[in-house]
Amino acid sequence: MEKKDIRSLDFSELSAELAQMGEKPFRAKQVYEWLHRKLVRGPDEMTNLPAALRERLKDVFAWRNISILEVLESKADGTRKYLFGLEDGNVIESVLMKYHHGNSVCVSSQAGCRMGCRFCASTLGGLTRNLLPGEILSQVYQIQRHSKERVSNVVIMGTGEPLDNFDHVLKFIRMLSDENGLHISQRNITLSTCGIVPGIYRLAREKLQITLALSLHAPTQEKRMELMPIARKYELSEVLEACRAYFEQTGRRLTFEYSLVGGVNDSREDADRLAELLGDMNCHVNLIPVNPIRERSYVQSDRSVTEAFKSKLEKCGINATIRREMGRDIGGACGQLRKSYLDRSKGEVKKE
Ligand code: SAH
Repeated sequence: MEKKDIRSLDFSELSAELAQMGEKPFRAKQVYEWLHRKLVRGPDEMTNLPAALRERLKDVFAWRNISILEVLESKADGTRKYLFGLEDGNVIESVLMKYHHGNSVCVSSQAGCRMGCRFCASTLGGLTRNLLPGEILSQVYQIQRHSKERVSNVVIMGTGEPLDNFDHVLKFIRMLSDENGLHISQRNITLSTCGIVPGIYRLAREKLQITLALSLHAPTQEKRMELMPIARKYELSEVLEACRAYFEQTGRRLTFEYSLVGGVNDSREDADRLAELLGDMNCHVNLIPVNPIRERSYVQSDRSVTEAFKSKLEKCGINATIRREMGRDIGGACGQLRKSYLDRSKGEVKKE
């Protein structure tokens, strides 16, 4: 039987495993604390355990550690991008953003992605595999260890579609907010989805206190289909219906992400339609200047167009902000660092 990844076991599962090994209950508490509070990488660091137990932990469980391959730091705003290597040789990326209100980490939920959004670098090579709960947690743990600063917010907005890896992501959220772990409040956790309707309903049923961010990017079904292939499967009206249900079940205000692409979805008419679409919802719109990627010809909207788009929404009573571009000088766009690393390791010449 395949060994279980020890960091992916929640407290009750770890307790059951250790009980089966004949250990006293307090040992599970100790091991869990080493893993999820003191953030150690292996049993050798668990200094209050008997040597024999440390050896058994090595034998019985898999230790799917992730290791830092590269760290890029932005000179402009201190944003750091981390490239991690997984035990099986895959690579993923995460970002640390420093705000006045605390440190926010953006984690990946999959190695690669199969959603195919047109402007996104993360999906260009397709999906390699789902990440384990422990591998998603490890991104936060490694960054907190490396930066020596407490992580206060987590956004699941890195590579991958979190609702396409539903069970592992749900476990990650529960373990991250568990009082036996880092105990990050669910209110400080945001999950961003491209709009997988059954996943949104499932998430609503879990009654978490996390923020749901929906990647909208267009005000009509036709335009959305052009940018996001997933829109062919789940229509705009169905997606918004699911978002309403999420709000009703959880009482959490919704966030809509709207990447502004010059000449594609940034006209006055687009703003009008968007305002109409969201007019009756308790929501916040996050306008993201599209981060151009080499493989596509999309460009950012002019600053004045972006501002006008925002004021139009505000005039209609919709709360909107333009997302500050963090770490632009270090390849800010989703999945760009991972992609450039994979290209380099394939021996391709990196074109700038
Ligand atoms: N799969 C999830 C989460 C990952 S992407 C989702 O689709 O929401 C996080 C956000 O960044 C999404 O809103 C996504 O559409 C957006 N994004 C991806 N690439 C981008 C780019 N090059 N410029 C601007 N936004 C981008």
